Formats: sequence, structure tokens, C-alpha cells
Amino acid sequence: MAVRIGSGFDVHRLVEGRELILGGVKIDSPLGLLGHSDADVLTHSLCDAILGALGLGDIGEHYPDSDPRFKGVSSLALLADVAEKMKQRHYEIINCDLTLIAETPKISPYKEEIKKALSDVLKVNINKINLKATTCEGLGFVGRSEGIAAMTSVLIGREE
Ligand code: MG
Repeated sequence: MAVRIGSGFDVHRLVEGRELILGGVKIDSPLGLLGHSDADVLTHSLCDAILGALGLGDIGEHYPDSDPRFKGVSSLALLADVAEKMKQRHYEIINCDLTLIAETPKISPYKEEIKKALSDVLKVNINKINLKATTCEGLGFVGRSEGIAAMTSVLIGREE
């Protein structure tokens, strides 16, 4: 089997008046993430990791925030498109490991729902997706709850 590794990282700013969507799931929060799409930072990092593993650049090249087609779009739709690019190249997910870096809110109550949403879009068994969450111990922009960051590692494979 040919295997390829990819990594993704993303940050979005927390603001009032926006919904907080993480991994396609609406999270109960007084603040939401700002962005051209739904600003789903976790899904963006996963998209970038898969695109990286495929050698296809990054999410901004494929779905530019200057393009009105992507205004307010669900990032799960972007992930579905990335998954289609992977399928066209005969690769499949071996596993992916996502880390959300946020001071608040706690996402442990949503973890299973997020993993299910992502695995449904990727059409993989849920046990191929691991989701971790950590804080920044009050330090920096994450610690001040000014934004949320996410990073993802992914391994994909193709029969040879
Ligand atoms: Mg983003």
C-alpha cells in the first residue's frame, strides 16, 4: 500500500453574533468564529491535512474566501469535496487525529457527535477519527478566548 501523510492547521477569530460550528456540529456558545464560510476551524484543518497528503496545496487555493460561492457555506460541504478528490485518486483515510485548541467552551459533550459528523462525510468508520481538545492554559490569543485553533494529522493510503 502507498501511504501519504498530511498536516493541517487553522485559526479563526471568536466574535459575538456568530454561531460556533466545530466539526459540523453547532456548539452552545455566546461567541462564534468569524470567517467567509461557517468558519469551522476544525473541519478546515482536516481539509488542509487531506489536501496536503494528496499534494494538492491548501484549502485557500481550492475554496478562496474571495469567491461568493463559498460565503456562509457549510465546511462539511468543502470536506465532502476534498473527500471526492481523494476518492478520485483512489486514496482512503487510514486514520486522522484532530486537536482542537480552545479555552472555552468545553467540547467533551460534543466529541462523539463531531466524530460521527466527520466520519459520515468521509464515509469512514468512526474509529478512524480521533479528536482531542486542549486549552492554552490562559496564554496567548487562545487563552484570552480571542480565537480557536485546530491542527490535524492524517494518513491516507492506496492499494498498489
Ligand atoms: Mg479556516
